[in-house]
Amino acid sequence: MITERFTHREIEKAAALLREGQIVGMPTETVYGLGGNALDPEAVKRIFAAKGRPADNPLIVHIADFKDWAPLVKEIPPLAKALAERFWPGPLTIILPKSHRIPKETSGGLDTVGVRMPAHPMAQDLIRAAGIPIAAPSANRSGSPSPTCARHVMQDLDGKIPGVLDGGFCLCGIESTVVALDDAKTVRVLRPGFVTPKQLSEVAETVIVDPAVLAELAPDQAAPSPGMKYKHYAPNAAVILVKGSSDAVLSYIASQYQEGDVALVFDRDLPAYAEQNIKAVSYGDSDEARGAQIFSQLRSLDQMGFQRILIQAPRTDGVGLAVYNRLIRAAGYDVRDTDE
Ligand code: AMP
Ligand code: MG
Repeated sequence: MITERFTHREIEKAAALLREGQIVGMPTETVYGLGGNALDPEAVKRIFAAKGRPADNPLIVHIADFKDWAPLVKEIPPLAKALAERFWPGPLTIILPKSHRIPKETSGGLDTVGVRMPAHPMAQDLIRAAGIPIAAPSANRSGSPSPTCARHVMQDLDGKIPGVLDGGFCLCGIESTVVALDDAKTVRVLRPGFVTPKQLSEVAETVIVDPAVLAELAPDQAAPSPGMKYKHYAPNAAVILVKGSSDAVLSYIASQYQEGDVALVFDRDLPAYAEQNIKAVSYGDSDEARGAQIFSQLRSLDQMGFQRILIQAPRTDGVGLAVYNRLIRAAGYDVRDTDE
């Protein structure tokens, strides 16, 4: 199969593929998705096969208009409606009991479905042109860093999918915030993203960050969200995440640094690493910048052939929580705390 690269002028071609039950790489403001008809079990199976994704890991369903949400779920409680009104279109996925229209293949066998309305104009145009809800997990091989440009999609899926719609670089760079509703007033964050717990608490009386967001699941612990179980976001290089003050992180990395290593640090700390002859690159100077760059940097450092990537950990507030959540998984939970 030859993978075609579509521009915004060719959205109709990509939409036609989706209507035929084919799968297409598509830009969103979070990461690139691998889209297929959410209502067609055969299309959904193609997504799982191309990614090598475990069948029990559910797909998020993408819509472009509010009216397209109700047919996918049993009902829309007032809290869910308020969240959607505040954060859609945008990087928030809301999980609710699914309607019979959602096949079990799409929901990974669960009786719930996560729905989101992406803010990327090309994603909206594609969904509207296709005229169907689009199931789309990240468009990478399962387990590898998520794709934040069309080139990353080609790196992982060239020859395995008929096309990718090129919409430039993703503004967020990390996947959507995923929430479930515990009750009429309580939102539970299952995966953090650019919509932060603080922002959610402007709409919900109580916001709980699920404990599995910040720590590894115990071997006998059930995952509140299937994706929590799996290895994720990992480059080929070994990743070590180092927590603490800038000075403590620098001296820890200096003590561990060996041939074949590279450090991924905050912009403002780069000169201090250069002074100690440590190869280092920056992933930005704000949590938002680090979110936008992290996956792309991990892919680049892999291509340069580094064996170990020592990463300065962000703080866990605001969007930093989302970056930290991805990094502990990329590191296979190898987190060194210099304050301990
Ligand atoms: P990805 O498509 O790679 O961004 O992954 C989507 C993630 O959202 C999954 O790995 C799940 O952890 C989570 N998710 C999607 N749908 C549900 C659901 N119905 N219940 C719980 N978690 C979900
Ligand atoms: Mg993914």
